[in-house]
Amino acid sequence: MRKPVIAGNWKMYKTVGESVATALALKPLVANANHCEVVIAPVFTALKSVADRLDGSNIRVSAQNCAAEQKEGAFTGEVAASMVRDAGCSHVIVGHSERRQYYFDTDEIVSRKTQAGLAAGLTVIVCVGETLEQRDQGSAESVARNQLAGGLSGLTASDLDRIIVAYEPVWAIGTGRTATPEQAQEMHAFIRRVFAERHSASAANAIRVLYGGSVKPDNIAGLMKQPDIDGALVGGASLKAESFAEIVNYK
Ligand code: PEP
Repeated sequence: MRKPVIAGNWKMYKTVGESVATALALKPLVANANHCEVVIAPVFTALKSVADRLDGSNIRVSAQNCAAEQKEGAFTGEVAASMVRDAGCSHVIVGHSERRQYYFDTDEIVSRKTQAGLAAGLTVIVCVGETLEQRDQGSAESVARNQLAGGLSGLTASDLDRIIVAYEPVWAIGTGRTATPEQAQEMHAFIRRVFAERHSASAANAIRVLYGGSVKPDNIAGLMKQPDIDGALVGGASLKAESFAEIVNYK
C-alpha cells in the first residue's frame, strides 16, 4: 500500500518570518492527516527555522534543490545535501522544471543531485515532465522515460525506497491549466511501467508518483481517485496554509 504524499513547493517566496508563520498556521490544520505524508519546501534561508518549529509534528521539511557535489568545498552559492539534512530536512526536490529551464539542470546534474541527496540520508523528490510542444509532438512518454533514465541512473533497489517521482507537465505548472485526471493517470501508469522495465514489478508497485501542475483544493480529489496517482506536488496553492491544508485533507 503506497502512502500518499502531499508536498508544497514554496518556490522563491516568503521571508524567514513569513515561512515560520505559514508553517505554524499549517501545523494544527493538518495535525490529523494520517492518511498522507505532509511535506513543505521553503527557501533555503528559512529551512532551519521552519524545521525547528515543526519538530515533533507530522510535517516534514524539504529543500527545493541541493548541490551536485557531495562534499563541502569551494562551490560558491551552493548548499550541500548534507547541509540540508543538517538544517533539519528529510527531503529534497531535484529536477524541478524551473531548475531545468532557468538554471540548466540537465539529467546528468539531476542524477548527481539525486545521488547527493540519497548519500545525505534524504528522500529525493525527482521531477519529470514534458513541455506543451513536446506533448503536441506526441513525445510526452519518451521525455519522461529519458528524464527517468538520465536522472535516476545507477540507483539500486534499496535506493528506490527514498525516491519519490513527481510528474509535472511543464504546461500545467503555474498556468492554472491542470492535466485532466485521465491524462495524469496515463502518464503515471507509464512511469510505473518504466520502473517495472528498469527495476522490477515490485519496485514499480512501491514507487510513489506525485502529480504536479496547478493542483488546487477543487481538483485534488479527482486526481487522487486515479489508481497510479500517489499524491501531489503543489506550488501556488501551497503558499497559504488554509488552501494547502484543504489539499492535504482532500478526503
Ligand atoms: C510546482 O511548483 O511544482 C507546481 C506544480 O506549481 P503550481 O502548483 O503552482 O502549478
